[in-house]
This record gives sequence, structure tokens and C-alpha cells, in this order.
Amino acid sequence: MLLRMSTLLLRTLREDPADAEVPSHRLLLRAGYVRRAAPGGYTWLPLGKLVLDRVTAIVRAAMTAIGDQEVHFPALLPAEPYRTSGRWTEYGDDIFTLADRKGAEHLLAPTHEEMAALLVKDLFPSYRDFPVTLFQIQTKFRDEARPRAGLLRGREFLMKDAYSFDLDDAGLQRSYDRHRAAYDAVFRKVGLDFTVVRATSGAMGGSASEEFLAATPVGEDTFVGCTACDYAANTEAVVTRAPAAGDPDAHPDAQVHDTPETPTIAALVGMADARALAGRTGWTAADTLKNVVLTVRRPGADEAELLVVGLPGDREVDLKRVGAALAPATVAVFDDWAAHPELVRGYLGPQILAKHGIRYLVDARVAPGTTWLTGANERGRHATDVVCGRDFVPDGTIEAAEVRPGDPCPVCGDGELTLRRGIEVGHIFQLGRRYTDAFAVDVLGPEGKPVRPTMGCYGIGVSRLVAAVAEQHHDDRGLVWPAAVAPCDVHLIVAGKGPQLDAALELGGRLAEAGLRVLVDDRTTVSAGVKFTDAELIGVPRAVVVGRRLTEGYVELRDRATGDRTDVPVTGVVERLLDEVGATRRDVV
Ligand code: ATP
Ligand code: MG
Repeated sequence: MLLRMSTLLLRTLREDPADAEVPSHRLLLRAGYVRRAAPGGYTWLPLGKLVLDRVTAIVRAAMTAIGDQEVHFPALLPAEPYRTSGRWTEYGDDIFTLADRKGAEHLLAPTHEEMAALLVKDLFPSYRDFPVTLFQIQTKFRDEARPRAGLLRGREFLMKDAYSFDLDDAGLQRSYDRHRAAYDAVFRKVGLDFTVVRATSGAMGGSASEEFLAATPVGEDTFVGCTACDYAANTEAVVTRAPAAGDPDAHPDAQVHDTPETPTIAALVGMADARALAGRTGWTAADTLKNVVLTVRRPGADEAELLVVGLPGDREVDLKRVGAALAPATVAVFDDWAAHPELVRGYLGPQILAKHGIRYLVDARVAPGTTWLTGANERGRHATDVVCGRDFVPDGTIEAAEVRPGDPCPVCGDGELTLRRGIEVGHIFQLGRRYTDAFAVDVLGPEGKPVRPTMGCYGIGVSRLVAAVAEQHHDDRGLVWPAAVAPCDVHLIVAGKGPQLDAALELGGRLAEAGLRVLVDDRTTVSAGVKFTDAELIGVPRAVVVGRRLTEGYVELRDRATGDRTDVPVTGVVERLLDEVGATRRDVV
């Protein structure tokens, strides 16, 4: 393959585009890989399409290698199967729905569990047909609330989705492990620094699930690691260890105190200490019980319900964690105080919630028998010795509190949690029978009795992965692609107005014939300086500068990652490049 920059559909940008907030987005736009076409929709330009195709090929090869069979479902689907599974409403505003000319409802598929289950039901009647795994690489549609960062969160994006069907749990575990290993190989090959973390299942349903997160400060996900063991989890999936339950009756009675002008935790703690509330000093925010009012809307419900979340006052509510805990319901911060005079803003305590029929969920640290300083449900008043299990009884616990660096590890208990940010590039689920139940997928078992298969599903955000690699492989001059996904193997730069152009084209021709992907900057309208700057922006791993020393028989090799430059005789350059590229290509497609 030989691409000539003089005719390539490419226009590099000197300036950062105004709306591009993260490096990958900025650089993919500036270097001419993608172009915004719609909100959350991007056109792949020739260079971008080459990278996308290489990543796609790596993903496809890894799936085929573990025996997955490639299919291609329609993206435009009738509503019916999604109604049967419940996801028509569960996905809520996130799915694009439309009606055809006869008024029949359709959707643009956000993911295809329903179709996979129906296809297997349709074609595979016997236990002998199992296990089977199907996959596809297809455009998905989601009406994301906040499309952002270019390819990282689009409304239309490319996903590889696979669906495994096994007859029993042990089989599902094997399928899951196979995909986990294949994902590991894919993300290594594309040069990603990633971590596999425990995850929640969101709108997908099912039990065990893990995410593959590419570590980067611009990631939307936050994940924890432990300093002592190998625990790693998305903060959404971190489970707080509850202290041992105490005796709720082992405390003095609750007392109400005048605490004027203390609607914030800081003001309350200051006053409690200054006045030695309940005969005590040394009050801290962790002694207070903070009660945060939220609204929760279940899928398909017209009205939102009130939910109060109780947590130690030194912690903030993490709405992402709450959202994950209550999915598929959606959560928002409550602000209609006027409509609820029973809720006294700044002085709310849980003592009255049951009476008003308001659901109350607490952080695990608010365990039975713990005692708190909290609101007395009257303006300017708080209560001490409000005991969980005596003065209020929560309706359950919820993972709502922010996770902080230094928190104890919930698994080993010895280590501390560290926090990092990452981009979710893959997600694997043990789904179980949610979808095979929904569609009554039964196959004839070995003893003539029906058996219901159990499912796994496995997603890779292929287009997002391109951006994640870019996010981890760039410097202040541009992209620095790993060899396995670079749009080209060699960038030939013509730097001179004499015989250099012909020599470069001849060299490029020989390299292309030998199977390398070659980009030649044969433009005659720009200076060598502009070409060097563009080459660094575009980020092909190695450049060959055909310049002044050509007349002496030399060209210059440049390594984009290290910046190394070496003059080499033009005679041996083809063999040398073939050797170098061959070495990095052997283990990639
Ligand atoms: P997120 O939490 O980022 O919204 P998700 O958990 O909803 O993602 P899945 O349903 O697990 O996503 O989809 C499988 C994969 O598809 C994800 O791991 C991710 O890499 C990719 N993906 C999901 N949503 C998008 C999007 N809006 N744009 C690009 N890629 C996406
Ligand atoms: Mg996910």
C-alpha cells in the first residue's frame, strides 16, 4: 500500500479545535484521522479508517482464534424482542427509537443479547449443538446523555459483541475465561496499559462481570487497587465492609439540641465542639449522619420517588455509585423542597422518614447499634445519640458514599485502596439465563428433558479503543502509534526539490511491493519543515527522510517514539525496514 499525501483526503490542523477537550480527541482531529459529522458522530478519514481496520482485524482474529463464529445482525430492529426482555423500557432514554411508515415501533440496537438468544433458539434444537459463541463487529447506537471526547463516547460507535451459550454453569465459566484471556491478548497487542477490574452489570443484567480499563487521567471511570492484594474494582462495584453490629439499646436516649445556623456539616461540627454537645468534645464530621435526598425514576415510571441516603458526614455521595446500585432506575438530586415541607433542609434526620413513607437506605458504616449526631427535623436543631436500629430503621444499605484513597481494602482488610481513572474498553459478563428465560430458549437435553442454556456476553468498544490507544500514546508534538495499529509502517518524507521526489517514490514503491504500508509526503506545495511537523503529528512509528544527502547515497531514519535519527545508506534501506517492521509484525495481524 502506497498513500501519497499530495492526493490524500487529509488536512492537518495547526490549532487545537475549540471543542476538543481531551488529547486523543484533539490529536485525532488535528492529524486528520476523524472529522466530526454530527453530535456524537464521526467520519473516519482515510488514515483513521486504516487504524480502525487494524484494530478491528486484531479483535476479529482473537475472537476467531477461540472459536467464536462471526455473524452480523441488523442494527434496525423491531421493538418486540426488546419489550419481551424488558429492555425497551429499561434502557430508557438511552435508546434511539423510531416508527416505520406503518407506525410499527423500532429501535437502533444498543447491543444484541435478544437477537443472539432468538437466533440460537431458531437454529439449535439439541444439547449436541452446544456450546456455541456468536460475535459481530457492528455499529451500535445509544442516545448518550453526554456524548463527549470524540470517539470515547459517541452516539454511534463500533462495538465487537459476542454471546456465548452453554448448557451449565461450568461451561459458562469456561466460555467466560476464554474471552477474558482473548481480551487480555487483544489489549496487549494494541499496546494498551490496562487493568481488569470487578464491575457492576448495569442495564445488561446478570451476575459476575469485569471491565477492562485503560488507565488515563481523562477516563470517566474511577477504579481502585489494593496496596496489599490483587483486588481491583470499578468504584461503582466497591463493596464497603460493615462494622460489626452493636446493641442499639446500649446507648443513652437521643437528645435534641438547639444548633442555630448549622445547615452544613462543618458548621454543625464547629458548634458541637464549641458547646460540648451531649457533654462531649472532639466531634468530627465522621460522627455526624448526613442525609441526602435524591429522586429515583424506575424505567417506564412517570413519576420519580423520593429516596434518602444516609452516610457518615465526612463522605460525599457519589452519584455514579448510586446510579450503578439502583440501575436500571435513574437518579437525580432532589431540589423541590417547597413541595415537601416534612423535609427540613439542612436539619434532616432519618427519625421521621418511615412515618412519611420515604425510603431510607444507608451506607454500610451506618450499622445497627451505631450512634449519630444528626438533624432533628426542625430548623436550627440537631439530635445526639440517634441510634441505628432504635431511633430509625433503614430500609437497607446502599453503596452511595464516595470511595477515597486510603480506605481499607474490602477483600484483604490489610491494604489500602488507591484510586486511578480509566476508560472502559471492554466488558465481560456472565449473564446467566435472563435472556434465555425471556425467550424460553430450551434445547433437548441428553436425557430427553429440556435444558435452558446460560449466556455470557462480551463487548469491546472498537472505536473507543482507537481513542484509548491514542490517549496513552502521544506527546506534545502528536500521536505516537504502537506499530501494531499505526496507519502505515513507514512515512517517507521528501525533503528537497531535486531528485528526492523520484527517489522517494521509487523507494516507496519497493517497500509497498514488499508488503509494507507506506505514506509518502510528496507534496510540492509545502516546506520540509511543515512535512516534519505533520509527520510528528500523524505519528507513524518510523520516518525516512529523503533529503540533501541523497546525492551522497544517504537517507535519514527517524524513530517517532525515541526521536532517534540515523543516516543510513539508501542501498540497504529497504531490507533494513523490512527487517524492522517484520519483527514487530510477526505477532500481530
Ligand atoms: P459506559 O459505562 O462507558 O457507558 P457501558 O458499560 O454502557 O459503557 P457496555 O454496554 O458494556 O458499555 O458496552 C460494551 C463496550 O462498548 C464498552 O466496554 C465500551 O468500550 C463500548 N462503549 C459503550 N458505550 C460507548 C459509547 N457511547 N461510545 C463508544 N464506545 C462505547
Ligand atoms: Mg460496560
